[in-house]
Amino acid sequence: KRAAYSELRDKEAVTKDGVRITVNINAGLRDDLALLNLTGADGIGLFRTEFQFLVAATMPGRTAQTRFYRDVLDAAGDKPVIFRTVDIGGDKPLPYFQASQSKEDNPAMGWRAIRIGLERDALMKVQARALIEAAAGRKLNVMFPMVAEPWEFDEAKAVFETQREYLRGQKKMLPSQIRYGAMLEVPALAECLDLMADRLDFLSIGTNDLTQFLFAADRSNPRLAERFDWMSPAILRFIHRVSGDAERLGISLGVCGEMGGRPLDALALLGLGVRNLSITPASVGPIKAMVRSLDLGQARQEIQTILKEAPAEPRICLEQWANKHQV
Ligand code: PEP
Ligand code: MG
Repeated sequence: KRAAYSELRDKEAVTKDGVRITVNINAGLRDDLALLNLTGADGIGLFRTEFQFLVAATMPGRTAQTRFYRDVLDAAGDKPVIFRTVDIGGDKPLPYFQASQSKEDNPAMGWRAIRIGLERDALMKVQARALIEAAAGRKLNVMFPMVAEPWEFDEAKAVFETQREYLRGQKKMLPSQIRYGAMLEVPALAECLDLMADRLDFLSIGTNDLTQFLFAADRSNPRLAERFDWMSPAILRFIHRVSGDAERLGISLGVCGEMGGRPLDALALLGLGVRNLSITPASVGPIKAMVRSLDLGQARQEIQTILKEAPAEPRICLEQWANKHQV
């Protein structure tokens, strides 16, 4: 099977009925960069910038950040990269930053991600400056984690725009374009998509945190790991609604959580209207193989039936359908 997957490297992820699916990878470490070409993915749909912070003994300075981001863009060449601003706190505490954080009872719902970024805006300013400088003359895509309300997105974007203006004043070469996106992982944001439409350049559903918050179930608690299925009616309906809203509002939508890396779950996502996946590199082969064996029109119908009839085991229903249709 592995050999078959590597044969797919240079093949596009197109369904049998001719729909092109974007298959990006999630990355964060220098070692991940080689996987972009090795897998033949379309780009990096989620670059977790906090990894550079997590593996360091002290806070990476602006020069170190700029160098790293430039290396990422160099390695990606013409392929797009979406840099997510640091998502620390929650399941990713920073030892050298911890001292200033008080102990929290619910760190996943606590002071993390964009909440830290906006309050400690020196951290975000340094990262903004590093990203903008690293992308001089190239396209820059920036994504903010854990956005719950429109003003958070506005403030985070303003931090970047202020840095862009500063560098313009310094006569520095700027990125040819900056696009700003948000992760949809806090359910509240889904209620505000109409308010976000004019603000956002793109939106990416983070199913890992989204599931945790939809079900109020700690993603790092092994006791709960098997309890909630990504293919439960609540998740399927939620994503269906978001994908419909995004289409109606003209918001470019992707999914970057682990759900997209499992063939059957990815099949469900495509049936729900998602056309852009960002997944763990090892999943690119299996997902491309699934996409190329799929009649998307039929899959959409099956998903509509599952949404409507809400069978007790949607996963089993879809699995049977996939087997019958040789997906
Ligand atoms: C997510 O929450 O789904 C996601 C992609 O981000 P992370 O796993 O880094 O929190
Ligand atoms: Mg997340």
